[in-house]
Amino acid sequence: MSGLPPNWRPAQDELKNKTILITGATEGIGRAVALACARLGAEVLLTGRNEAALESVYDTILNEGGRTPGLIPLDLRITQHEPYDELAETLLAEGLAIDGLVHNAGVLGERRALSQTSPESWQEVLQVNITATFLLTRALMPLLERASLASIVLTSSGVGRRGKAFWGAYAVSKFATEGYMQVLADELGGTSHIRVNSLNPGAVNTRMRRAAYPGEPPDSNPLPEALTDKWIYLLSDASASIHGKALSAQG
Ligand code: NAP
Repeated sequence: MSGLPPNWRPAQDELKNKTILITGATEGIGRAVALACARLGAEVLLTGRNEAALESVYDTILNEGGRTPGLIPLDLRITQHEPYDELAETLLAEGLAIDGLVHNAGVLGERRALSQTSPESWQEVLQVNITATFLLTRALMPLLERASLASIVLTSSGVGRRGKAFWGAYAVSKFATEGYMQVLADELGGTSHIRVNSLNPGAVNTRMRRAAYPGEPPDSNPLPEALTDKWIYLLSDASASIHGKALSAQG
């Protein structure tokens, strides 16, 4: 059970008038979700650390006739809160509201036993995969509150729902993501028009999957483009009543 309607398809202008910020929009799932959002009429705010890759997504959106995206270089390894707060202040000053926030960026870290994991790798994975999620959401809350019906989508993983040997800090960070989602959902429930859910993509043919499973034929898994409707559903008003759920993009 994915918890999502299996046959839902977006209308052509499903995300018209929405502004959606996506982390890790340079490649893989984040890039595909950003392009899909733009094709459905959203203004997308592209964030990532690789500026050339961000510009390439920006150009693709413009070439396809989409709304001019925002381009926001942001390295989620930054541990201080100030850059996240400054970004939010800039967007607030521009009069923006954020209707959708997709926490997608992630790193795999070391695929080895916890006892063999280097402290540096542990800290980077926890920083990028969950602490940055906290810092960015905290900073963007006033922009989410400005939207009439905002949706936060956190990216989970199967190993964030059931622990598995040698998935180390990555699995722990995804368990933390689920915990973060539950706590935030409970805080927001009943008092806010902001909803928050987690989505496990399942196996998807991206750089991260290929690194995690080097012996697997890459084309045995779907490309991100085949799954973007799941993210679109959670970002659209069609999912207005879905809040605090741990969902899966693939069965
Ligand atoms: P991917 O192709 O490796 O993309 C990861 C994205 O995160 C890239 O855009 C990358 O940008 C960005 N990123 C990494 N470190 C960053 C940093 N310090 N600051 C800013 N951005 C950073 O991986 P993916 O498969 O699309 O994964 C997307 C999400 O899905 C992740 O949260 C992952 O855990 C989750 N997931 C994926 C699968 C799967 O099978 N693919 C399964 C379960 C969960 P750079 O170019 O700058 O590195």
